Amino acid sequence: ADAGVPGRVRVAVRLRPRNGEELIADADFADCVELQPELKRLKLRKNNWDTDTFEFDEVLTEYASQKRVYEVVAKPVVEGVLDGYNGTIMAYGQTGTGKTYTLGQLGEEDVADRGIMVRAMEDILAEVSLETNSISVSYMQLYMETVQDLLDPSNDNIAIVEDPKSGDVSLPGATLVEIRDQQSFLELLQLGEAHRFAANTKLNTESSRSHAILMVNVRRSVKSSDSNGNSHMTNSLKPPVVRKGKLVVVDLAGSERINKSGSEGHTLEEAKSINLSLSALGKCINALAENSSHVPFRDSKLTRLLRDSFGGTARTSLVITIGPSPRHRGETTSTIMFGQRAM
Ligand code: ADP
Ligand code: MG
Repeated sequence: ADAGVPGRVRVAVRLRPRNGEELIADADFADCVELQPELKRLKLRKNNWDTDTFEFDEVLTEYASQKRVYEVVAKPVVEGVLDGYNGTIMAYGQTGTGKTYTLGQLGEEDVADRGIMVRAMEDILAEVSLETNSISVSYMQLYMETVQDLLDPSNDNIAIVEDPKSGDVSLPGATLVEIRDQQSFLELLQLGEAHRFAANTKLNTESSRSHAILMVNVRRSVKSSDSNGNSHMTNSLKPPVVRKGKLVVVDLAGSERINKSGSEGHTLEEAKSINLSLSALGKCINALAENSSHVPFRDSKLTRLLRDSFGGTARTSLVITIGPSPRHRGETTSTIMFGQRAM
């Protein structure tokens, strides 16, 4: 369905181009998938003579530009946020398949490379006048069921608070930074990345084992006639209406099964924690797809955090990222199955 329509999660699949190593080492082998973007279909090669076919809301080939990916995956969600609806954009996939490239790329060398976070802020800044409105941002990492502030490293255990009446989710302990322009936002993302690297070095872990979460709060006061398209004649008589929308962008932990690559105690705990949150997310996506009255948000911190920006009136978009190499067919298959749970 349409990402502009609340309810279920809209799912796009994006294939990363072969990297240098795959071009050389796997030169004699065909890609493990074949995409049919016009039909919104993906064919997964099971063996030399057999394929499975899957349908998605969008199929993005290795030639899809960052701009196109933004338009397909994110723009409807961002437009919803500007209209006062919450929204979530997530990337799910094996480490190295392009989640961070899709969401977090800053495009310092070439603006064409900019990912969803930067493009979303560009659209929000273009639409929101900062004289009467505000844009504020938090940036966090969720590691082993603990929320850490990426804008203030000393703040390493942030509580998630749910308003029992409104259902609104807030993180009162998280640093909230007002955004004035694109430059200040780019600096904030860079600072967050630097803190993430330092925190993960200290914890002796990798960024692929935590979820990175950006929250953008947009508060606008709009003339009330804007909301229903009525005559402008009565504008001056009506008080402005405040519209609040929250955009959550989640760069999920790598979906690969960590334990298969020989784990010490530490990584086994990490694997359990990642499995817990990704499977909780999968169950929520599934419940929304089936129109179930019970969505099990309470099962993990990740899903508790997303509760008010996921399903219901919120727009939710998931991009699953895959690589072409036949070597990773197992992981690619499980990523595709995760995406299919939403369809
Ligand atoms: P992940 O976050 O899923 O671990 P990354 O986003 O870090 O993966 O991507 C791994 C590498 O592949 C990076 O060097 C990235 O720049 C490159 N890459 C990923 N997707 C694309 C793409 N669509 N086009 C070009 N390069 C890509
Ligand atoms: Mg990454």
